[in-house]
Amino acid sequence: MDPEPLAPYAATESRSKGRRYDEPAARYRGQYQRDRDRIIHSTAFRRLVYKTQVFVNHEGDLYRTRLTHSLEVAQIGRSVAVALRLNEPLTEAICLAHDLGHTPFGHAGQDELNDCMREFGGFEHNLQSLRVVDELEAKYADFPGLNLMFETREGILKHCSKANARQLGDVGRRFLDREQPGLEAQIANIADAIAYNNHDVDDGLRAGLLTLEQLQDQPLFAAGYDDVQKLHPGLEDRRLIYETIRRMIGMVVTDLIENTRANIEAAAPQSIDDVRAAGKVLVAFSDEVYEQHVSLKRFLQKHLYSHEKKLDMTRRAQRIVRELFDLYSADVSLLPAEFAGRAEGGDEADKARVVADYVAGMTDRYAIAEHERLLG
Ligand code: MG
Repeated sequence: MDPEPLAPYAATESRSKGRRYDEPAARYRGQYQRDRDRIIHSTAFRRLVYKTQVFVNHEGDLYRTRLTHSLEVAQIGRSVAVALRLNEPLTEAICLAHDLGHTPFGHAGQDELNDCMREFGGFEHNLQSLRVVDELEAKYADFPGLNLMFETREGILKHCSKANARQLGDVGRRFLDREQPGLEAQIANIADAIAYNNHDVDDGLRAGLLTLEQLQDQPLFAAGYDDVQKLHPGLEDRRLIYETIRRMIGMVVTDLIENTRANIEAAAPQSIDDVRAAGKVLVAFSDEVYEQHVSLKRFLQKHLYSHEKKLDMTRRAQRIVRELFDLYSADVSLLPAEFAGRAEGGDEADKARVVADYVAGMTDRYAIAEHERLLG
């Protein structure tokens, strides 16, 4: 299947709001391809390999990390973008970057760091992803961060408080004007949810924290499971699970593409600006699949993310993040030189932000090792 020309409402270079710092275009790559490549070459991207998705990295070699999660999100996002004649490299760039700001230890780490930062504007991993690509990556001589295209940055910033939006300038505007981002950003957002719902079922079964019996009550799982059993009676569990998950992803992605096509037809956008002003998200499941998707999400929340075995690790992770934050805040000279330099001369809030940037950038295993080294 050769690629079709882009739809008129896709994001394109010629209609882009461009980069924060002007740069000559690359000779052999498009602007969004260049963004994707910069993300892949970033330090924050490499660190995702040792950051938790659900299971802490050293619990087993087969579980997803944030890196493999991000690659799965990108795979799903690209398939949907191509099917809808949208900008594939842009979708890929947003998907690969969406978790760059994540703390060590998944949501436990994020919530604890947010608590540590309560008096100083809080900590939100999504906002931090934008901060990583706009400010924290230090690789290029002519500008801070990765100097990505507006549409890539717009997609990375999935949600944002009004107070933060006011400080962010152009990329925060849509949260004040109640506008939507482009369709590529909308795809990345749902691809994230599709990826984790499905791979967490897989990882949860492998870890023995979920059972096949429990999952029979989930319509998305049960439909695929019944199909596989009919087609391949007596198939061993491992392959039965893969075949079921494969079907689940296929079902929700197909529903997403078809329902989004219908939404686009109804809204009839002529340009990306029409998409932004459409008044609602156009990339969406049908009502029926949305309900099933949410039901599976709630199921995972209850049976996997809040599992007693997970909670032990959650408490340990919270203690590590809190104690590291407190220690560095009390003595910024313990920070590496470039962070210590930024912390000096600032007020309390500036100092806390530098410490949060440093702790957020840690991988799980580095945080554990630093905690052990400094606090025994
Ligand atoms: Mg994610």
